[in-house]
Amino acid sequence: MQTDEPGGQWGIPSVEASPLGVKLSHPSQHPNRVNLEPSPLQSSAVDEQFPSAGRGIWARVPDVDWNDWRWQLRNRITSLEALEALMPLTPTERAGVSQAGQHLAMAITPYFFNLINVSDPNCPIRSQVIPRAEEMVTAPWEMADPCGEDEHMPVPGLVHRYPDRVLFLVTDRCAAYCRYCTRSRVVSGAGEQHLHTEFTEAINYIREHTEVRDVLLSGGDPLLFSDERLEQVLSQLRAIKHVEFLRIGTRIPIFLPQRITPELCAMLRKYHPLWMSIHANHPKEATREVREACGRLADAGIPLGNQSVLLRGVNDDAAVMKKLMHKLLMMRVRPYYIYQCDPVKGTHHLRTTVSKGVEIIEALRGHTTGYAVPQYVIDAPGGGGKVPIGPEYVLAHDKQRVIIRNYEGKVFEYPELNDTSTPAKSGSGAPPSPRPLGVEAAVKSCCTTQEGNGHDRQTLD
Ligand code: SF4
Repeated sequence: MQTDEPGGQWGIPSVEASPLGVKLSHPSQHPNRVNLEPSPLQSSAVDEQFPSAGRGIWARVPDVDWNDWRWQLRNRITSLEALEALMPLTPTERAGVSQAGQHLAMAITPYFFNLINVSDPNCPIRSQVIPRAEEMVTAPWEMADPCGEDEHMPVPGLVHRYPDRVLFLVTDRCAAYCRYCTRSRVVSGAGEQHLHTEFTEAINYIREHTEVRDVLLSGGDPLLFSDERLEQVLSQLRAIKHVEFLRIGTRIPIFLPQRITPELCAMLRKYHPLWMSIHANHPKEATREVREACGRLADAGIPLGNQSVLLRGVNDDAAVMKKLMHKLLMMRVRPYYIYQCDPVKGTHHLRTTVSKGVEIIEALRGHTTGYAVPQYVIDAPGGGGKVPIGPEYVLAHDKQRVIIRNYEGKVFEYPELNDTSTPAKSGSGAPPSPRPLGVEAAVKSCCTTQEGNGHDRQTLD
């Protein structure tokens, strides 16, 4: 069923899946292993919040293999037979896994598999990576390419949708496959389309378009490339004078933290300013291994942000999201976005309401550290870009004042700045200090002054 191709031309390792994923290979050569000796981090007060994912049935695999990212890739779980040998599946999962090869392949690293609670059919890790029969159902409003990327590709594999930045899809392979992937049409090679990135043309395009100051490498997962292949791409981009800023979008630190080797970090740091967006959805994903991987990236000077996708039964709960955001900060990762799940084909069962997303932001803003509050966005279907969505804090707004509420629901008036509010002399005519108000009186005062309109939200200018 697995359709992963070797991808050898880009240095992506081939996959030799074994039914139980316990095949020991290359015992004498482990250039990619990570030294997981205890680090100073492990003695800090927050250690207990970052348990290891453990070894599970791979307990007898030598450290040298387990900590080798290529071993993890070779031993991914990619078939119904291998998965059923490890855990009981529900009928809908069994049907989903059987058919995944027609849509989006299944692959789960042994490391990530150990986060699944095999006795809980509602485990939030499980539903992210184990296909279900519902994936084969397409709702009328679902799309193969919900973000309209294919329409904005001047060169195969290069999306130029915003004026000053491009999205460079460097591979269609990932360490594991998310069942809600917005690029499931191309990712894994099993879907209806195939990605054929034209690297030379894409780099020439960026070189010729001097307005492009920001290049985001994504896919698929760019960190599946070998260090050498990734460096080839980064060095060519860095040589372009008008490219100010490089970014990598990756879920490798979550699916395969063993890939974040000291050698990779040493290579990446040569191409600063280089930022990285990781992708964690649930606090269980923030393990000791992931924390250490993020620590290596942060120590290499790479600013880290996190993008979560709001998923039904996974993280559509304010307490779960808050825990995730707190753990991200402890890992030196800034929560960046919560995405409303794109209406991609076969994801209806994983999507939740926009009001749930708003409720989560409402529960975070003011109730916890500002750094822990990401922006909640909808990627506007058809290529409209990210639109911020959030609770409404401005109750009314006219030329004299803004009526706002805080996280506790208390209402305040803030004096708007305009020509008539400029003090004539120092110390005289200064706008009044913001003060708490009753909500109805404040809104009425503001709106009736200018328009006499009593709606809750006014923007009169
Ligand atoms: S890691 Fe990213 S590109 Fe890969 S399957 Fe998951 S969401 Fe899609």
